[in-house]
Amino acid sequence: LFLSFEGIDGAGKSSHIETLAQAFTDAGRTVTRTREPGGTPLAEQLRELLLHQGMDALTEVLLVFGARRDHLVQVIEPALARGEVVLCDRFTDATFAYQGAGRGFDAQVLAQLERLVQTGLGAQPGRMREPDLTLWFDVEPEVAAARLAGARLPDRFESQPAQFFARVARGYAARMAAAPWRFARIDGAGPREEVAAQVLAAVAARGWL
Ligand code: C5P
Repeated sequence: LFLSFEGIDGAGKSSHIETLAQAFTDAGRTVTRTREPGGTPLAEQLRELLLHQGMDALTEVLLVFGARRDHLVQVIEPALARGEVVLCDRFTDATFAYQGAGRGFDAQVLAQLERLVQTGLGAQPGRMREPDLTLWFDVEPEVAAARLAGARLPDRFESQPAQFFARVARGYAARMAAAPWRFARIDGAGPREEVAAQVLAAVAARGWL
């Protein structure tokens, strides 16, 4: 079972990954918690460069997908082959939202790279690997910005203007509209327990908990 967690910076997804990891562990499943960009030694090095080093848009996209390929080959596919639950903080929807909708990179090229990078893996090499479910934490950019303010030093993406995050949010909405069966939209604005209940309900509704 492969679940990804998406949303703009400050949407609050990270704390709910912990809740869900605990719920799956309590249900007797082995959980692999991971993140993108990152999740392997190589991909974590690429993450450092992506977050702190300015670069041309295509270079950024290729590094994101290079990190993803290593992550899939080294961590995600082997864990899925062992029957584990993989909980991944961001995956390809973030690339469509940030590099695509946010920075204006060509979505058709992203779709080609998605297919290239996410096929030729594991037991069904002809099939494109995608999350079984993507939990999209939808919050107003203003709410997310208020949460982030003062929390920690922003990286080069988080210090973008508010219109950037509005575009990113629309990018996520478009990805969900194109593949609604793969998504659960979580209203991330409310209190933490309320959001956690929505997360657990979305997974339970699919019979996975
Ligand atoms: O979710 P997390 O805080 O780990 O993301 C790290 C940073 O990388 C965030 O600022 C996020 O907006 C950015 N990012 C990005 N493009 C991606 C994935 C993450 O700009 N494809």
